[in-house]
Amino acid sequence: MLRRDGTADCAECEMPLLPCSIEGGTVLLECANRHRATAPIPRDDLARRAAGSWVARRGAQLHAQHERWGTDDDVEEAHDR
Ligand SMILES: [Zn+2]
Repeated sequence: MLRRDGTADCAECEMPLLPCSIEGGTVLLECANRHRATAPIPRDDLARRAAGSWVARRGAQLHAQHERWGTDDDVEEAHDR
């Protein structure tokens, strides 16, 4: 179950599980060791919004990483030629 800050404890390593996406009625969570878990979307408004903001933050990070990788690939290709 999610806490009110949108996180939960990993059952395997006790690291915090952070929401990484929300699909249908389920929150998908991942801890720093990449253990995965799911939880139903909280009925509590505060917890639901907290989970949503974790997902948004993570999405922004992934997007930034993708942009960096894209740039690196272009540089490598240029070197190979
Ligand atoms: Zn874990």
